[in-house]
Parts: sequence; C-alpha cells; structure tokens
Amino acid sequence: MPAYAELAHEALESTRDALTREYESFKAKGLALNMARGKPSRAQLDLSMPMLTCIVDVDDCTAEDGTDCRNYGVLDGIPEAKRLMAVMLDDDAEHVVVFGNSSLNIMYDTMARCWMFGTLGHMPWCKLDEVKWLCPCPGYDRHFGVTEAFGIKMIPVAMNEDGPDMDEVERLVAEDASIKGIWCVPKYSNPSGATYSDEVVRRLAGMPCAADDFRIFWDNAYGIHHLSDDATQQDQLLDIRRACDGAGNPDRCFKFASTSKVTFPGAGISAMAASSANIADMKAHMSPQIIGHDKLNQLRHVKFLHDGKGLAEHMAKHAAILRPKFELVDRKLSEGLSDIGGCTWSKPRGGYFVSFNAPAGCAKRIVELAKDAGVTMTGAGATWPYKQDPADSNIRIAPSLPPVEELDAALDVFVCCVKLAYAEKLLQ
Ligand code: PLP
Repeated sequence: MPAYAELAHEALESTRDALTREYESFKAKGLALNMARGKPSRAQLDLSMPMLTCIVDVDDCTAEDGTDCRNYGVLDGIPEAKRLMAVMLDDDAEHVVVFGNSSLNIMYDTMARCWMFGTLGHMPWCKLDEVKWLCPCPGYDRHFGVTEAFGIKMIPVAMNEDGPDMDEVERLVAEDASIKGIWCVPKYSNPSGATYSDEVVRRLAGMPCAADDFRIFWDNAYGIHHLSDDATQQDQLLDIRRACDGAGNPDRCFKFASTSKVTFPGAGISAMAASSANIADMKAHMSPQIIGHDKLNQLRHVKFLHDGKGLAEHMAKHAAILRPKFELVDRKLSEGLSDIGGCTWSKPRGGYFVSFNAPAGCAKRIVELAKDAGVTMTGAGATWPYKQDPADSNIRIAPSLPPVEELDAALDVFVCCVKLAYAEKLLQ
C-alpha cells in the first residue's frame, strides 16, 4: 500500500470508506478502554503489597537514630529514608529532604516559595511585572498546570532526542531576565521517553542566564524506571547538581523524585535534593508549615526496598510487567501505520509513555474518534502549555494501566482512528 499522501483521490475515498466501516464496527462493540494516564497496573501495585502487610510491626517503629516514627518530629526525613531517596535522586543523603506522598506537591510548594519569598534572598517572583518559564515540548501536562496556576508565562522549546533544544534555551535565558526557570524530566521523559545527553546537562548547568535566580526544576520521576534489567539497555543520566556545582552555579537546580511508580502512587514517599544553601533556605520556610511528614511510611519504604540493590530488584519486576506492553505498542503501530506515512512515535527504554506524532492537524480528531469508540486517550494538546499544540500532532500513549489484552484491543481502535483521521484530512 503506498503512503496515503500519494494515493489518488478516488483511492483515498475508498480507503476512507473502508476505514469508516471498520471504525463503526469498533464502535458497535461498546468498548471501555483507557490509555490516558500513566498509572501502574494492578499487577504492578500487587508487587508492593508486603509493604502493607508484614513490614513494620508494633515493636519495630524506631528509626536508626532512635526516633519513634509514630510520634511528631523530624522535618527533613529519617536518615535511612534520606539514604534511600538519595539513590533515586542520584545524590548524597546530606543534600536530600524527604517529604510526603507526592513530588508534584513539592514542585508546587517550591514554586510557591520562590513566588512568595524569593529564593536565597532574591526578589520574590510575585513582585515582578512578568515571570516566564521554559517548557520543553512535548512535556508533562501537570508541570504546565503548576506554572499556569501562578500566572507564569510559558514558552515552549523543542524537545529533541537528547533533551531540550539547547541553542534555543541558551539564547532565550541569556537575553531575558524574566525567564526564571525550566521544567525538565531528564530521564525517560514524559512523554517522549528521551534522556538528556551529558552535553545537554552540562549546558543547562553552565549557561549564562540573565536572571541570577534562574532555577532548573529537575523532575527525575523516571530515573530508575527502566524497561530492562540489562544495564546495556538502560539510559544513563549525568547528575545536574554536581554539574551545576562544577559550573559555578551550585544553587541553580532543584531535583525531585518519588516512589509513586515504585510502590503506590499517592501513598509513596517523595524527596528533593538541592545545594546546601537551597536546602537550608527551604527548611527555614518549611518549619512554620509542617512538623514532619509521615515517618512510618518512610520506615516502611526503607524496610521494603532497603537500598539501591533492593530498588533495582524491585524495578526489574515492574519492567517485566511493563516491557511486553511497550513492545506491543511498537508492534501494533509499526504493523498498522508504517505504510501510511506521516506518523512517528518514540521507542523508549524506560518511563511510562510513548509519544506519538500524527500527521499535522489530526491529533484532536484522532482522540475524538477514539473516545467515541470507547478508547480514552490523553487529550490532544495536553503535552503543550495551555493545551495548545501548534501542529495538532502530538498524542501521549500510556500503555501501563490496561492488561495486555485490553491494550491490544485499544491499539486496534487507535490505529484505525489514526488512519481514518489522516484519510479525512487529506480529502479536505
Ligand atoms: N512527574 C512526572 C514527570 C510524572 O509523569 C508524574 C506522574 O505521572 C509525576 C511527576 C507525579 O509524581 P508524584 O506522584 O510524585 O506527585
């Protein structure tokens, strides 16, 4: 079959008619399938059940420094939880603060502190006429939700296979002091799965910025979420804090991570790493806010996951469940869409998403068609600030939640919707 763009008008019309019939037959099945959010599947959640049933008992609620984890206290986390989260953050325990159940919450609060109090003695951002933020796109919709909530003007920059377009980033931050930061998901990025190259990390750390208080929000949400336990099949990421240190910009980055997709989303532990000055500043602002986070949960996580080795063993079990799903996505898209032209998609080695680029002008229609046929996708445009994808092309596929059979069925519908929307577009 030649690419759709090369088909004669009549051939394209009969292709569209055949696809419409196929689409109607999917619709008649009354499906209810979901490839929208990056949630772990039930089988993945089951992996962590021992943490709830047999990890911490009544005689064993004491941290290694003698803290009774049942009681108030400890603003920044028990020592063993700091060590565990230091592994996830690729940092030293002394630079880590352990928080509650959500890293997104820490990112919001970190933004709020910069906004209300300024960072390290700089002018609070709320007092400035305008604050702008760089948003590598496609990116994570909830990041964009945070900056939007503060009225920060978001500037999209292209996300390449080795990270953001650094020529563009460097040009923008050098000339505009109102650009105060950048969102980064540096490893197995949401949604493209790309990992930043060493060069990109070094350039981010060292680039001259017009704003002295420029901040990199380094959300390493998928740092240990490989799809293979074979080290040669895993991406490596240079550490941003040490790179910032080396470049003479020690306070430039805030690093975030959580166990949401290691144990239980919404019931895990989250953490942040930053320079000693940033940590001291943050703790000073936190102390009126909270006495301490849930230390029993911190203890449970340490007793269940232990250390880097324990984390890796546990993540290999997740990978064994997730890998077939990512393989299925790639196989179905290749079989269904390689010939028609105009479509590309990522083949990540980790993380939770496949980034799909439809022919320009088709993404909204594809998501609408899929929804009407009972397959929920992430909204078209969600991967861009203000939900505005200028090419109306990018769709985030989240294969983790449905069981393989359901995913298989959902992908058949998706492929049909892509083909139908593309044929319709070419006939317009
Ligand atoms: N950061 C990224 C890049 C994510 O994809 C997600 C969830 O999908 C989160 C953060 C949410 O993390 P948490 O559950 O720790 O708030």
